[in-house]
Amino acid sequence: MTDSAMHDPELVFHSWSAQAALNPLELVGGSGAVIRDAAGTEYLDFSCMLVNVNIGHQHPAVVAAIQEQAATLATVGPAFGSRVRGEAARLILDRAPGGFTKVFFTNGGADANENAIRLARLTTGRTKVLSTYRSYHGNTGAAIVATGDWRRMPNEYAVGHVHFFGPYLYRSEFWASTPQEESERALHHLRRVIEAEGPQTIAAILLETVPGTAGIMVPPPGYLQGVRELAHQHGIVLILDEVMAGFGRTGAWLALDNYGVVPDLITFAKGVNSGYVPVGGVMISEPIAKQFDERVFPGGLTYSGHPLAMASIVGALTAMESEGIVENAARIGEQVLAPGLQALAQEIEIIGEVRGLGVFWAIELVEDRASRAPLSAARMGAIKAGLLNAGMLPFVQDNRIHVVPPCSITDEQAQRGLEIYREVLASA
Ligand code: PLP
Repeated sequence: MTDSAMHDPELVFHSWSAQAALNPLELVGGSGAVIRDAAGTEYLDFSCMLVNVNIGHQHPAVVAAIQEQAATLATVGPAFGSRVRGEAARLILDRAPGGFTKVFFTNGGADANENAIRLARLTTGRTKVLSTYRSYHGNTGAAIVATGDWRRMPNEYAVGHVHFFGPYLYRSEFWASTPQEESERALHHLRRVIEAEGPQTIAAILLETVPGTAGIMVPPPGYLQGVRELAHQHGIVLILDEVMAGFGRTGAWLALDNYGVVPDLITFAKGVNSGYVPVGGVMISEPIAKQFDERVFPGGLTYSGHPLAMASIVGALTAMESEGIVENAARIGEQVLAPGLQALAQEIEIIGEVRGLGVFWAIELVEDRASRAPLSAARMGAIKAGLLNAGMLPFVQDNRIHVVPPCSITDEQAQRGLEIYREVLASA
């Protein structure tokens, strides 16, 4: 703590942590890919906080949009009409595949998934939701139980959730040795899970288009198309969770654009407004939206479509479009991060694999390449400290570094980030 008046964490109860030993870095300012702490030290932000600041810090157009809306009408109840809400919905649906006609706004990603699951259950009259073990879908009732990772276990109160394994060739559950094999065998496994659970009991398959927190596992060829077909065949609603992967992160507006897959529902949050104001939502395809033309939708939130959040969406999406920020993410991915990270993987013994696209990459660290044993927590801790010391705010998750800078990052900043990884990992 740099200032005795900073009562965080003394009075603030923090997420996912034992509280006693916390000593959070106090952040006070930033611009673009740079963030500054209370001592005046600047860091290259290769975390985007929680992979949400896609447009970069303190984008002037987004800040101005929020300020203007605050000065006009700072809050509007969800039952009232709001021009800025309609405009935000239009800008979002313009980026969805054809056939998506409505947006339900939520406060963040978890309740977006919560409401997508609700829509799927109401539409099908079925209960079960299938999702993968390597996933994160948020920290509320159904979303945390749909989640696959360790955070599910202390929270398993919701019912009707079934998990399966998705594709992850580096640590294949299917003894596969090529992306094609991994894809086919993962689809076979899912087909068997559907049959064994009873297709007539399954409301939804909920998948991150590119699983993020669990390791940025780019789906192998044909996998998402195969899931789409299976869902279609059995009348199951396909929900793609684009909370982390959406709005520029993969170098496309939506991650699903990379695969040409059209789900029934799309959940979003994070990158849609870069987290300047909390917001999320569900994009709803026409057949599902129409269900509720005459039937009451039994769901709502005091802050659904909050005007400050809506203004920040309009500001962010307009600026991302006019400044070519999504194109920049694609170019940085192809021209700087892909070759740079692949070169690092050649050079540095503890790198088991690098994988990703756009500004969405994972460096998977191992004790040795033959066994692929994950690098120990102690060594990961030392690497994290080393990266911070070298002037980077990193995203470290389990035995991986997630390379997730803003979509707006410059070539020089991306190169500098690669140099910092090299310096720290070569000496780890
Ligand atoms: N879905 C995915 C894929 C996420 O990565 C996250 C958060 O990291 C969520 C849902 C939950 O979003 P929120 O924390 O806004 O509730």
